[in-house]
Amino acid sequence: MSVEQDGQSIRLVLVGASGRMGGQILRLLHEMPRYRLVGAVASAHNAALGQDAARHAGAAQCGVSLSSALAPLLGEADLVIDFSSGTAVGAHLAACVAARVPLLIGTTGLPQELQAPLAAAAARIALLVAANTSLGVCVLEELVRRAAAALPAQFEVEILDVHHRHKVDAPSGTALALGEAVAAARGQRLAEHARSGRHGAAGPRSPGEIGFAALRGGDAVGEHEVRFLGPGEALSLTHRATDRAIFARGALQAGSWLVSQPPGRYSMRDVLSI
Ligand code: NAD
Repeated sequence: MSVEQDGQSIRLVLVGASGRMGGQILRLLHEMPRYRLVGAVASAHNAALGQDAARHAGAAQCGVSLSSALAPLLGEADLVIDFSSGTAVGAHLAACVAARVPLLIGTTGLPQELQAPLAAAAARIALLVAANTSLGVCVLEELVRRAAAALPAQFEVEILDVHHRHKVDAPSGTALALGEAVAAARGQRLAEHARSGRHGAAGPRSPGEIGFAALRGGDAVGEHEVRFLGPGEALSLTHRATDRAIFARGALQAGSWLVSQPPGRYSMRDVLSI
């Protein structure tokens, strides 16, 4: 299915529409008039099924009800954006491939077994998978990659993430992705060089170590800093999120890019041409 003939409208089916990210997207859709919501999917167990999706998200009524079946909505769709649950994505992927509808997956925690179906799907539809859809974080990753490649190994890398008190995992997924960017640029394997949470008699730093530290508290949306600590100088690269809407806005911007792409596997870097 291709974008409507006028080349403007994008008929969107949003999966995970009753959730936190789905709600952010529904509240932001008015910023991007190119989008027209044609379907809103939530879990079959969701108490809000049947309700107006936008009204449920706290926005003005849109006339699209929350439903639990994706496939019947795809005949009218130009794009699916998925912010649901890692275990649910496989079924959504299969439905999009069968209907030939481009798919943007913002959902995290995808099972390892999904890697082969994702690769196969990319031969048939435009597919973008992004665990972080912030445009700023995407640029930060690229800057970190370049700095890690350009600076000699004497510049030791420490990565700091700051999040609100409710966050349960540390380091954050984004901090780990930044660590992966450093490791890849330096020809290392992150698993062999990551060092988290020094405490007590931690001993001296080993060569090539990539250090992680996590601060938790308050309502911090998310801050990531990568420090390159060298002899006589230090370089810091920082991204600070002040509003969760950045992930929704980035996903919508990426989606409007994705609908014009041929089948293939894409990332946020492709969206920004970096
Ligand atoms: P949430 O729990 O608030 O919402 C989940 C949504 O998915 C709900 O609408 C739920 O009904 C729906 N859902 C669950 N199982 C489903 C199924 N089997 N079929 C259809 N719909 C189903 O979660 P959230 O905070 O909105 O996060 C959703 C996902 O997005 C998570 O994986 C999260 O880690 C990820 N996330 C990604 C980014 C990013 O930048 N890419 C940012 C924030 C969150």
